[in-house]
Order: sequence, then structure tokens, then C-alpha cells
Amino acid sequence: MALEEYKRKRDFKQTPEPAGKVERGKGHRFVVQKHRATRLHYDFRLEMDGVLKSWAVPKGPSLDPADKRLAMQVEDHPVSYFDFEGIIPAGNYGAGTVMVWDVGTWEPEGDAHAMLAKGDFKFRLDGEKLKGSFALIHIHSRRSGNKGTEWLLIKHRDAYVEEPYDIDGHDGSALTGRTLDQIADDAGVREWKSSRPAATGSRSAKNDWLAESIAKADAAKRKPASAAKKTLIKSLATKKTATAKASSAKKTSSTASAVKKKSAPKKRLSL
Ligand code: MN
Repeated sequence: MALEEYKRKRDFKQTPEPAGKVERGKGHRFVVQKHRATRLHYDFRLEMDGVLKSWAVPKGPSLDPADKRLAMQVEDHPVSYFDFEGIIPAGNYGAGTVMVWDVGTWEPEGDAHAMLAKGDFKFRLDGEKLKGSFALIHIHSRRSGNKGTEWLLIKHRDAYVEEPYDIDGHDGSALTGRTLDQIADDAGVREWKSSRPAATGSRSAKNDWLAESIAKADAAKRKPASAAKKTLIKSLATKKTATAKASSAKKTSSTASAVKKKSAPKKRLSL
């Protein structure tokens, strides 16, 4: 992936996010951005091959090896996205507030390209909040409808383990110390905030990659916690059934969203 998909999804006249370009020859940095979009999630990004390889982690990373965090691989982002903290305006892809939750450097534990291709990607992080050895494990599934974007982010057992790990106990921007609310207020977006309810359910929300993981998260919540926790891969397989049900229910409302899409400005649809 280069940056085509990243650029296709965004109108840089409308969003303060960087347009970006492929920048080779820089170091191995990583960033975790806390992103309050349709749903709160964390974006885990590793600098590699001149771009930021990116995964969206609904529950955020953890220093507890027992937490196997679902990580949905998303489009590569430009390295200039590295320190983006601020507001993505309503109506734009991923609209909401972004915090730089953690920054630092990473190093592969082996051949990075080979591990990534194999779906067994081991690396060490040296950040403000995240430290030590981790793995991103690609979930290979024969289930139909699996887009192949599902990975698990897992902490390896080492000196940096924290059990249990409460991500909310480690809140605040690694750059500025601000919370998401403070970032939103500092950006002078009161006007945007008051118009936010009107934007809910707009095409940006419907088209968001999050739609699928939200359905999964919701399905997980309906299941007994103990069953969902036993083995994550098992529960993911079970969730797919619920997701399938959810998506058939979604079809019913697709006519309504199609109408909404038609009423949206043409300009935005051709991003
Ligand atoms: Mn995001």
C-alpha cells in the first residue's frame, strides 16, 4: 500500500490532516493516536518504508499479555501524520478529535518485511507509555467475508508487563498532556461540537472502516464476558455470526442511507 487510499478518502481543503508524501530514509518511529470518531479507538502506527503502517485498535494497546487486542489494519498514512493532534472536521473521513497518546521508536525482532508478510510481526517499542516486546499476529480465517485485515496486538512477557492494564489510567497526550476534551476545546471548535449531533449517521460514519468493528464490539457486548474472554479467536468466529445478522439488518436501512448519500454534496462523494 502506498498513500493512494489515504488520499482518496480525504479532502485536504476540508481537513487539517496532512496530505503527505512517501518519505524514505527516516528512522523507525511509532505513534499511537487516540481518536474519538464514530467510536473511540486507538490508531497504532509504525514508521516503515516511508509511510506509517497503521492498525486501528478499538480497545487500545495493553501491557497485559492476557489482553489480545483486535487490530484492524487500515490504509498506510503519511509520516507527516506522525504528530497530528487536533480536530478532523465533521463531514470528513474519521471526523473527530485526535490525541497523540504515545510516541517513541520501534525495532523489529527479526526481518520486518518477512515477519509482516508472514503475519507474525514481532517488535520492541520504546515509547512514553508503551515499552518492551509486542507482536502483531494476522488472523487467518477461512470464514467468508473476512477481509484479511484482522490482527491481534499482544504484549510479550517481559520487564514492562503491567497486569491488569487500565488504559484510562494512562490517559493524556504524550506531546501536550492534554485530554481529548482539552484538545477539542483548545482547537476552538465549539461551533463544530454543537453541530455534531446533526452529523451523526452521515456518510462519513457509514463509510468508516469502524462500521464493521463497531458491529463486532456490539456483538461482543451482548455475549457473556467470560465466554468472550476465554479464547479471543474463538469469540471472533462466534461474533461473525452476529455480525452477519447485523449486516442483514443493515441492508434494510441501506435505502435510507442511499437517500442521504444522494443529498450530500457531489464534491464530497468524488474524493
Ligand atoms: Mn482513527
